[in-house]
Amino acid sequence: MQFAVLQLTGCAGCEVSLLNAGDELDLAKLAYMPLVVSTHDVPEVDILLVTGGIRTDEDLFKLREAASKVKKIVAVGTCAISGGVAGLGDRHDIRKHFLATTHQGRVPRMLPKCKPIDTEAEVDIYLPGCPPVPDLYVKLLNDPGSLKTTSIVCKECGRRKPKDLRPTKLTESIHKDEDPNVCLVKQGQLCVGTSTRNGCGAPCPKAGFPCVGCRGPSNNLIEKDANAWFESLANVFRRMTDIDPEEINEALRSPHLALFLFQFSDYTETELESRPKEKVL
Ligand code: SF4
Ligand code: SF4
Ligand code: SF4
Repeated sequence: MQFAVLQLTGCAGCEVSLLNAGDELDLAKLAYMPLVVSTHDVPEVDILLVTGGIRTDEDLFKLREAASKVKKIVAVGTCAISGGVAGLGDRHDIRKHFLATTHQGRVPRMLPKCKPIDTEAEVDIYLPGCPPVPDLYVKLLNDPGSLKTTSIVCKECGRRKPKDLRPTKLTESIHKDEDPNVCLVKQGQLCVGTSTRNGCGAPCPKAGFPCVGCRGPSNNLIEKDANAWFESLANVFRRMTDIDPEEINEALRSPHLALFLFQFSDYTETELESRPKEKVL
């Protein structure tokens, strides 16, 4: 089964994560990935992994051309699924910066709005993550049936949630007295693992950092909109803490969680239909 990787506008982190899978992937089957294997253009392959969003007219051309030659398309990472960092260019201040006189001619022509790849090509599978961890690529390419992602990050994190511990304020993300066995929410941190789909192995909370939700909404939320996600998280914090709901609300809308919020921006702003959960790994 030959596969190729088409890189649209993103940061190449998805490609680096794929390479980090190392010997667990048969890279001899990798027919195209400009970072390491280059041919003139995408050859006919069984699976095309697409990373990055459609930000420029060049992205659009490359995707349309490649899509006609492959059997299956996988949208990999937040940028391909929702715009991610490439979608930041939709913000007026950033656009203004790029289009300022000093930058003219140095950046490719940007489309008016960054588009998820499924607006231009039929996507068979979505693999969210920023980037997806190497193990997700291994499972996707070697044994997709082994990917069980119908749960939430908390299930893979395993920290305890003592009932009698109820913080009253949000705390700094990293603090020296953090208890490695206790849920970060119970220690006043803004962890969104309760609403985020599993599959990554929870590397962030296991290392003491709150989950920012790069794997996107859990199965319960994926077919709903951003408001359902906010409501779900607000409920979690009401149940587990005594923190002022307004403080939580403000923090949830902060740039800290921007990448996750971009997963919803396409649902809320362009009125696209949500992704069918059976296609999301
Ligand atoms: S999803 Fe994340 S890691 Fe992948 S290209 Fe976009 S910003 Fe980079
Ligand atoms: S730390 Fe985060 S991921 Fe872990 S159990 Fe608590 S809410 Fe869930
Ligand atoms: S723990 Fe959260 S932020 Fe970290 S990789 Fe998993 S989904 Fe992404």
